[in-house]
Amino acid sequence: MPRTALRVGTCDAVPGALSYGSFDGPALPTGGTDALPVIIAQGNEDGPVFWLTANIHGNEVCGIPVIHRLLTSELSAALRGTIVAMPTLNPAGLRTNRRHPYYDDRDPNRTFPGMRKETGEHKEPSVYERLTAALLETIRQSADFYVDLHTASMLSVPFSIRDRVLYKKESEKADAMALSERLDAMVEAFGFAAVMEYRVGGYIAKELHRSTTGAALQELRLPAFTVELGPHTVVDERNVQAAVIGLRNLLRWAGMLSGEREAMPELPMPPTKRRLRREDGPYPPLAGILDYRVEPGAAMKAGDVMADLRDIWGRPVGDGTIKVETECWVIGIEDGLLAYPGAAIAHVGVAEDSPVVDVWPA
Ligand SMILES: [Zn+2]
Repeated sequence: MPRTALRVGTCDAVPGALSYGSFDGPALPTGGTDALPVIIAQGNEDGPVFWLTANIHGNEVCGIPVIHRLLTSELSAALRGTIVAMPTLNPAGLRTNRRHPYYDDRDPNRTFPGMRKETGEHKEPSVYERLTAALLETIRQSADFYVDLHTASMLSVPFSIRDRVLYKKESEKADAMALSERLDAMVEAFGFAAVMEYRVGGYIAKELHRSTTGAALQELRLPAFTVELGPHTVVDERNVQAAVIGLRNLLRWAGMLSGEREAMPELPMPPTKRRLRREDGPYPPLAGILDYRVEPGAAMKAGDVMADLRDIWGRPVGDGTIKVETECWVIGIEDGLLAYPGAAIAHVGVAEDSPVVDVWPA
């Protein structure tokens, strides 16, 4: 299908070149709109359309330079197909270095169209629900595959998050399996350590099916995944370089770019080839001050101590330690050093045995 007439917002694709424009954002009471910037890189030859977005969480800035460095006029000249990129999906959060836009207190990455619990009450769509509904519809019109760039806690490894493919009817299962295999291949081509999303129950409860790539995968049935690029608020240079290389390798996988696969900088990798699932924890039994004993990327065995737990005077709280219950790979430790019961002190990858293609819960 020829894509040469592709238009996103005010941005018209130009074969062999980069073009610039914007996508209508929320109207502002002070005039104008909080428009989302759009960059289109189109090749001279037809090919797939790859969507690439960043910064829906306003303090997660590392994806912006990734998009700026990836999209060059040299890339457009060499490309088969088209890249549609949006460097920020949350200009308000970017300006204020806040996760949420100040005019919508919901997590913007949980506002995309998707299955919702029927409450029987009329609910007016929020500012971001209106924006993300329009955005998902625009992605539907052109995208063949999609990546969204994020960051995690200050001390965290770069990794990809791969959602389960959910289906509703048995007749959809074969397509869901094929989509899942394509998604695995796509994540592998990108080259970061990959971690499965939470179990189905937690995934729905956290509304992750209403995230950028969750909605693209579950609603549009597009291969789509999220990339975490290390710390929020600052830009990690090694992760920027790795992501740009990973994205060019992904374009080669999709047949959009020629040439050999480029070597990645050395990145933290899990100690096992087994599938891992991301999990929050461990949880401290008592409040106190943490003194972490491990760094992101560490491999831990059941019973290993992740942090010492003390009171503010430095005396042990409880048995003085917080241990992990199962073998895990440390993805990131929480910002700061405060322990509260009920608040996980880290994010880890644990061995995953449940199906990667599954039915929607009733
Ligand atoms: Zn994020």
